[in-house]
Amino acid sequence: MTPSPDFRADAGWAHAQDAADPLRTFRNEFLIPPHGDGEQTYLVGNSLGLQPRGVRQALLDEIDDWARLGVEGHLHARHPWLPYHREVRDTLAAVVGAEASEVVAMNSLTANLHLLMVSFYRPTAARPALLIERHAFPSDRDLAASQIRFHGFDPRDALIELDADEPGGTISMAAIERVLAEHGQRIALVLWPGVQYLTGQAFDLAAITRLAHAQGCSVGFDCAHAAGNLDLRLHDAGCDFAAWCSYKYLNSGPGAVAGAFVHARHAQAALPRFEGWWGRNQATRFEMRPEFDAATGAEAWQLSNPPILALAPLRASLDLFQRAGMSRLREKSRRLTAYLAWLIEAQVGDVLEVATPHEPDRRGAQLSIRVRAGRDAGKSLFDFMAAHGVLGDWREPDVMRIAPAPLYNTYADCLRYAEAVQAWRANVA
Ligand SMILES: *Cc1c(COP(=O)(O)O)cnc(C)c1O
Repeated sequence: MTPSPDFRADAGWAHAQDAADPLRTFRNEFLIPPHGDGEQTYLVGNSLGLQPRGVRQALLDEIDDWARLGVEGHLHARHPWLPYHREVRDTLAAVVGAEASEVVAMNSLTANLHLLMVSFYRPTAARPALLIERHAFPSDRDLAASQIRFHGFDPRDALIELDADEPGGTISMAAIERVLAEHGQRIALVLWPGVQYLTGQAFDLAAITRLAHAQGCSVGFDCAHAAGNLDLRLHDAGCDFAAWCSYKYLNSGPGAVAGAFVHARHAQAALPRFEGWWGRNQATRFEMRPEFDAATGAEAWQLSNPPILALAPLRASLDLFQRAGMSRLREKSRRLTAYLAWLIEAQVGDVLEVATPHEPDRRGAQLSIRVRAGRDAGKSLFDFMAAHGVLGDWREPDVMRIAPAPLYNTYADCLRYAEAVQAWRANVA
């Protein structure tokens, strides 16, 4: 049992925790979807984060400035469009633990991974392989296999998929160490998740980077489930690149503009890259010269002038992260998720089993949960909960993902989840 002596499964205790939470006011900054006369217990910020109240005004500002200023908005909008991506850059860098010049908000996650792999996946006959995990998110597997084929290799030889070796489907550092010791000299790139989407396992990015670099491999992280969740230190981890989407823990709306990180040591390197004019040095970009004068750092990977209407929600959302601070959010998140894990073990352990690692350093906000009675019971529980206003998400074949997001979820939310499971148990008994 998780040692958590002061946790209690009653509403008075949960409300007292929420009242004492130094980040409690941030919940009011979000629009919580309604359920009946009340609010939903929304525990699915790992899939689509809730809308910050500031988003509406941020969008209206841009629409009004466009109406008022036309093309002059590039320089004279309240948030001038020309350097707009820089407005989000510093906060984004703080959220992922990077230097400002190492990050850029652009495109979508899969597009960014492809663009970064153009630079960092350079297979040769001697070193053609790409290492991913067996149960990688489908888009990550698709991009890995298609990059391999694009370079004229065959995924059947060049795609190495590491199997889970721990109960619950998680992967030990020892397994990563073994595969790199065995195949490292053939591997051009290790593409790994920061937090695995299905199991919720968080990885030690610095350790993976060290192991991979020792074998001469490049390393990139898909931080879709890690950005805004873990207190990332991408610069210190030393990875070559990373990318993430902004609609999960970063709360920037469906299909939001994604992020990319390129380590500072590559800032001046003459890497192969797919280029476009927004990757040029801002000082000379409008001189319209034939040659590409690259911007410094991650901005050099930008192609186009950015979609301002899509960046506005990111700006509004990042403002909240700036005020809350990633380290305080992570501190709350550890305790909130520990409470949820404790509730599950103590209250409904006969019904549910947590697949996510117990160690706080090996998980983020999310717990991946299997119903002991199997897939159909799991789906029935999931549907029962949704009907009662407790929303998680369901991943076939049999995983329920529950993620208390520290910006807006509460101890009371975690307790309501456990109570919904108890109600379902009483109902089916
Ligand atoms: C959410 C997620 C994606 C989604 O990719 P998009 O390009 O944003 O559609 C890809 N990979 C992982 C690991 C994810 O969690």
